[in-house]
Amino acid sequence: MDRVFGAGERVGVLTAEPLGRVLDYRAPEGGCGSGDFVEVPLGPRKVLGVVWGQGDGSFDMAKLRSISRVLDAPPMRDELRSFLTRAADYTLTPLSAMLRLATRTPGLGAAPGTRRIYRLAGPAPNKLTDARLRVIEALRDYGGASVTLAELCEAASCTASVVKGLVTLGVIAEEDAPRDLPFPSLNPAGTARLMGDQVAAGDALVAAVAQGGYGTTLLKGVTGSGKTEVYLEAVAECLRHGRQALVLLPEIALTAEFLTRVEARFGARPAEWHSGVTMTERRRVWKMVGQGAAQMVVGARSALFLPFQHLGLIVVDEEHDTSYKQEEGVLYNARDMAVLRAAICGCQVVLASATPSLESWVNADQGKYTRLDLGARYGAAELPEMRAIDMRAERLAADRWISEPLARAVTARVAAGEQALLFLNRRGFAPVTICRACGHQVGCDHCDARMVEHRFLKRLVCHQCGATKPVPTACPECKVEGRMAPVGPGVERLAEEVTARFPDARVAVLSSDLFGSARALKAQIESIAQGGADIIIGTQIVAKGHNFPLLTLVGVIDADLGLQGSDLRAAERTFQLMRQVAGRAGRSGERRGVALLQSHQPEHPVIRAILGGDEEAFWRAEAAERRAAGVPPYGRMAGIILSGPDVQKVFDFGGELARRDGPLRRIGAQVFGPAPAPIARVRGRHRVRLLVKADKGVPLQAALAEWVGQLKPPANLRVAVDIDPQSFF
Ligand code: ADP
Ligand code: ZN
Repeated sequence: MDRVFGAGERVGVLTAEPLGRVLDYRAPEGGCGSGDFVEVPLGPRKVLGVVWGQGDGSFDMAKLRSISRVLDAPPMRDELRSFLTRAADYTLTPLSAMLRLATRTPGLGAAPGTRRIYRLAGPAPNKLTDARLRVIEALRDYGGASVTLAELCEAASCTASVVKGLVTLGVIAEEDAPRDLPFPSLNPAGTARLMGDQVAAGDALVAAVAQGGYGTTLLKGVTGSGKTEVYLEAVAECLRHGRQALVLLPEIALTAEFLTRVEARFGARPAEWHSGVTMTERRRVWKMVGQGAAQMVVGARSALFLPFQHLGLIVVDEEHDTSYKQEEGVLYNARDMAVLRAAICGCQVVLASATPSLESWVNADQGKYTRLDLGARYGAAELPEMRAIDMRAERLAADRWISEPLARAVTARVAAGEQALLFLNRRGFAPVTICRACGHQVGCDHCDARMVEHRFLKRLVCHQCGATKPVPTACPECKVEGRMAPVGPGVERLAEEVTARFPDARVAVLSSDLFGSARALKAQIESIAQGGADIIIGTQIVAKGHNFPLLTLVGVIDADLGLQGSDLRAAERTFQLMRQVAGRAGRSGERRGVALLQSHQPEHPVIRAILGGDEEAFWRAEAAERRAAGVPPYGRMAGIILSGPDVQKVFDFGGELARRDGPLRRIGAQVFGPAPAPIARVRGRHRVRLLVKADKGVPLQAALAEWVGQLKPPANLRVAVDIDPQSFF
């Protein structure tokens, strides 16, 4: 509750330090109010904090230190404070860690002042050194965002003198700008040109935003049906009401195309928030969002924690995407947290996807979410024709992965001047390096994982911890020389086969690890979109919404890959991924796309569902299975990962926890394990997991907190609780 505290009064301050509680301080000269951002002394340091309310009195008044100063920023709103509190309770995360997510911006306390920034000012001269060209490209990339000299030099990997040289030439302007300029205002006027199903969907979203209050809508529409076009109308309505809009995207590489669309629709670029944004710009975004001077933010999941003043709409695009689940540090699912924040502040949520998560599908089915459908692709574009290639009937030579029918289709498309995409969800050259003499497979020294050969780097890489080592010439086990061999394909190896088989085709490989920077990846994507390649080989980054107009054929090298393993979401994930990948084909509408799925089990129900196209039947069947098994979204789960250097101690602790399951039994929950986690060792730490299953609607978090709180873990043993785990590694 809003309260004002007079100078010297006892107040509670939450800091982002891992102290486990709110600390008492004295209100400073001039007083302070709840929600104020403050700087407080903590030991010898000064740290950022937020006035959380009245002090709890546990500390001797005589010894209380004073708040150093109140920062010049609008106070954190009640709504955000309750969001952080509820999110902390839900994810069983300390509140301080939640506050850190909400204040992860350097220099929040710095005085406004001015600073020197750089921008493009004139045409680039014809003759340019590489370094100068990089500077100009970096500035183009920032698209008008504030950049300092240090940031520019880093982005362009050049020295300050290169930048200064361009300033002298008049290509770049150097100016003192006030820190943290407001964002240009967006113009929501203009009318949409929605067609067909889009009209009703757009009207419904606009009405929901106009009415105000909380509501969640699942906007389901096949790839290319115009979901973005439709939800931008909801954004427009939100802006017309003077409220702020937040659009979450699952992948930084998608923001460039999206920003261009926003600029075309609203006449200016919105604020951008993700790991690729400079610190200077992040500070500007944080401040301007807090002052209401940024109307729209496009960002990654952590944008949910920005201090919006009057949020009216949150869009979660590609809501099924697994990258919305943060898997390190604070374990939260941005899709679910978006709904939570919206419920607290009374705003609308749009979850957009061609292949919704089963959770959202069920919520819509049960009437908790409104559902809107876009049935067809926009304009003349049709969904691709999907067929399986039965790999049992194909005779492939050793180290070949492209079947004859797929190769013929590729040849035909390339000959017609179209593009073909070969999809293989495996980075690197070969997933396994084996000794032909003794059968030994090279593993990571710190993890229970096989090392993946990356020929591009000329090394073996552990995909768990990132450790690398040279490809051995002699077997590390039996010492025999010259018998080490790669087994199985990764995208780099597939590229070798493609180059050998289609020597005249221009081949591009899209894999997140092959690009030094998000910028290089973006440039590659743009070049492909403009026809700079005939055959594209890609991992799952190509499945994420990129638009390649010339692409008409998608070949899936191994459609069975995701079906192996016991993950409860294996079927759902495979279905989503295959449909998304196939959806890249034939988007321009000039020629219908084809998707060919190489499979050893074409009669598998999931493969049949992918090919058959009766999506609702697939979701219904999948939902029925989950319901029968009492697993999410019909039951609740939590994963407890224990890790430590001594495997016996980790198991002993897990066993002790499992025995003391009283608090869980009281809510009817069951605990399974301890068992070695699927990846039983990462970075030298042994990992053991317990899995808790409960009915929906029981107070799971409270029971978990009580249960885990019974035992203090020994030094060096870490306990991580993962509510609603998405992956089981
Ligand atoms: P989705 O988000 O469902 O994949 P998009 O909104 O990206 O679909 O639309 C696919 C393509 O069709 C885009 O190039 C978009 O500009 C175009 N498009 C969709 N709806 C319309 C419309 N009503 N008028 C003009 N172009 C449209
Ligand atoms: Zn490793």
